[in-house]
Amino acid sequence: MGYGQAPHILIVGGGYVGMYTALRLQRKLDGDEATISVVEPNSYMTYQPFLPEAAAGNLEPRHVVVPLRKVLKGCRVISGHVVAVSHEQRAASVQPLLGETFDLKYDILVICPGSVARTLPIPGLAEQGIGFKSVAEAIYLRNQVISRLDAAASATDSAVRRRALTFLFIGGGYAGIEALAELEDMARDACSYCPDLEPADMRWVLVEATDRILPEVSPAMGLYTVKQLEHRGIQVKLNTKVESLLDGHVVLDGGERFEAGTVVWTAGVKPNPMLARTDLPLDDRGRLRATAFLQVDGAADAWTAGDCAAVPDLTKGEGVTTAPSAQHAVRQARRLAENLLAELRHAPIRPYEHSYAGSVASLGLHKGVAEVYGVRLRGWPAWLMHRTYHLSRVPTVNRKARVVADWTLALFFRREIVSLGSFADPRAEFRMAASPEAATAPERPAEAPDSRAAPGPPAAIDDSAADATADEAIPTGSNPPGTPTPAAAAEANSQAAQPRS
Ligand SMILES: Cc1cc2nc3c(=O)[nH]c(=O)nc-3n(C[C@H](O)[C@H](O)[C@H](O)COP(=O)(O)OP(=O)(O)OC[C@H]3O[C@@H](n4cnc5c(N)ncnc54)[C@H](O)[C@@H]3O)c2cc1C
Repeated sequence: MGYGQAPHILIVGGGYVGMYTALRLQRKLDGDEATISVVEPNSYMTYQPFLPEAAAGNLEPRHVVVPLRKVLKGCRVISGHVVAVSHEQRAASVQPLLGETFDLKYDILVICPGSVARTLPIPGLAEQGIGFKSVAEAIYLRNQVISRLDAAASATDSAVRRRALTFLFIGGGYAGIEALAELEDMARDACSYCPDLEPADMRWVLVEATDRILPEVSPAMGLYTVKQLEHRGIQVKLNTKVESLLDGHVVLDGGERFEAGTVVWTAGVKPNPMLARTDLPLDDRGRLRATAFLQVDGAADAWTAGDCAAVPDLTKGEGVTTAPSAQHAVRQARRLAENLLAELRHAPIRPYEHSYAGSVASLGLHKGVAEVYGVRLRGWPAWLMHRTYHLSRVPTVNRKARVVADWTLALFFRREIVSLGSFADPRAEFRMAASPEAATAPERPAEAPDSRAAPGPPAAIDDSAADATADEAIPTGSNPPGTPTPAAAAEANSQAAQPRS
């Protein structure tokens, strides 16, 4: 391998694999041994195992992400998406966040764009559902749950109230279970501030297509978790599939029907579809075919790891690949960086080998389940292990200190129960004020106490503007003509508060 000058390493994706690989390379590379570029649409890496705690308000969302430009000072960080790769030409097509697509030449490729939600063609899913993989989704769900409680507490129509208080989660892996358990815990806490609401008024439903949840732990621990959730009043429906979600009207395959104001889809992930726009080899599930050395199979100078790669699991039998998990992603990034350095220096490379240590999951404050190296823990000890483990793993001392500060504050003060859903469209009110209708509307008398109290919305506002009030009460009773019905208004609020990620 000869590059002529210092080789250019291109890292596609600044998540677990991308950021940890770049961190290690920038630390270990000698001066002008190589240059590194990282292409990533977000300006940060997300520590996904902390998303449920961020959604529940135990952690400040900014503390569960790592700013890439701050930690990768030795790399060039490019804000954008890689939309295609021609490895034969050693060129990636980059769509920056602003401006035209450009070609980026490289000598060595590290391709790790992770996974995306694996969805099914269920009617209404795209319109009603939201995933749980990003900080934006975690913030949205926190606002959504609290705003539904606020709205329901003031609603007089019992059907509207019931719909607002029904939260449906689809998929029982750790992301879904932790998100459900943490948000339910937070909502239960929030009810204590609403004299008009009892925890029993809420309906939390988990639908899982297989006969068990948390496939990462043993069946016994999965069963224990089901019992814990049911004990809290959460309905767990195993061996059940969702057939339709049109307009939030849920139809299950057993025939059961109900209305849900919130639908969260956590039914697994699939490799990033951009991989199909490369000339690299894919397996039948759309993952990059990788060797145990974390090289793309048959492609010189191309490396991969994490959720997007089919990496042979040497601790298991022939044909088994490593599961998509942070545990593997972090360790694979370390091995990948070491092997890449070894190749540059004409030293031998080593295969990736790690036997899965187990899983820890938080089920709300002081509740959890853990199975690590065969040791099973439940309740408080498991929750403590979850926190200790992830604190040790979250990157940078800065993040660790902030996380500890959040947890310590929570020991002395109860969490904030406030929905800031209108953050999703902060310009809505200004847009309404600046619209032509507002400009031609008669001026209100100067002594009017509050110009926002003018009756009825302006005649024409766009959909997103309809939600200046994502976190306000659902209208009840005497609406002016043209005002949406309570259920439709609730829906408009939910839709417009979608995060712009
Ligand atoms: C809520 C939640 C909780 C989890 N909890 C755990 C847990 O407790 N334990 C555990 O082991 N695992 C957990 N996981 C799984 C774990 O987070 C993933 O397996 C891990 O993030 C995979 O790392 P990765 O680098 O492959 O992908 P990611 O970390 O997702 O990184 C991929 C990066 O690529 C970027 N990208 C995407 N497309 C492009 C493109 N076209 N161009 C450039 N960049 C692109 C993305 O923005 C992203 O930053 C959890 C996941 C979720 C969602």
